[in-house]
Amino acid sequence: MSTMSSNLVKAPRSVERLINGQMVMDGAGVKINRVLTQTLQRRLDPFLMLDAFGSDKPGDYIAGFPEHPHRGFETVSYMINGRMRHKDSAGHEGLITNGGVQWMTAGRGVVHSEMPEQNEGLMEGFQLWLNLPARDKMIKPWYRDIAAEELPRVTTPEGANVQVIAGSSHGVAGAVQREGTEPVYLDISLPAGAAFEQQLPSGHNAFLYVFRGEVVVEGKAVPTTRMAILTNPPGSDGVRIHASQDARVLLIAGRPLGEPIAQYGPFVMNTQAELQQAVEDFRAGKFEGIEAGGLAPQVPVP
Ligand code: MN
Repeated sequence: MSTMSSNLVKAPRSVERLINGQMVMDGAGVKINRVLTQTLQRRLDPFLMLDAFGSDKPGDYIAGFPEHPHRGFETVSYMINGRMRHKDSAGHEGLITNGGVQWMTAGRGVVHSEMPEQNEGLMEGFQLWLNLPARDKMIKPWYRDIAAEELPRVTTPEGANVQVIAGSSHGVAGAVQREGTEPVYLDISLPAGAAFEQQLPSGHNAFLYVFRGEVVVEGKAVPTTRMAILTNPPGSDGVRIHASQDARVLLIAGRPLGEPIAQYGPFVMNTQAELQQAVEDFRAGKFEGIEAGGLAPQVPVP
């Protein structure tokens, strides 16, 4: 909006289209709003999926996601409310609770379970799938649990409160950095009337998901539970988000890989032959557990 006091972004992106998401069942029958579906994988490269789950009916989530494999990409789980326990085949386990994040690099293959550790009350969160460059698809699996209080955050002079999960915002480096895809993953809380600016390279694909209230991007309203795909005009330098009411929004952006995407369920590779190999390796029990903590597979860039 033109009344903004700061001027970080001079050539802002606008909204290309609004997406409703699809109600799907996954895991052992968990009800999910699949916001980023397979048909958007090319447009939103390097992102493969965004699921939003939010329910106060235990029947919608209690069955969880029993043991299942992944290969070739990263999963980022962000719990807004509730508790989810994950275990992998090597015996590592952890608990993601209110406001916490688990960043997992499946790499050459993991088998894990993600199960709610509550049988009542509200469970709300997101799972984002971020692709790996072809050269990194078979790296050693890795994960990190990041508690809410460990997440870097920044409060802007305009009143935005931002959790910086990945990338950086207003000079604050997020919890995770990735060289290949350069993801930005922000959870932005805005009081009514406040605005927020984020610089983004014009070639990076970007989208918003509003999960409280409503925001306006260059005159276009984005209501709650809607995703807005942002345009990539040449020469643009970021996005400006204005809250028309108290709002909370995920802003997600990354550098497209421009590589072929071949997906078979929880395996995302570059070719059908690699998918075939993934299925064979999984059936042969060649997937391993995940080593918790330690060094990330890619050195963080501040
Ligand atoms: Mn999983």
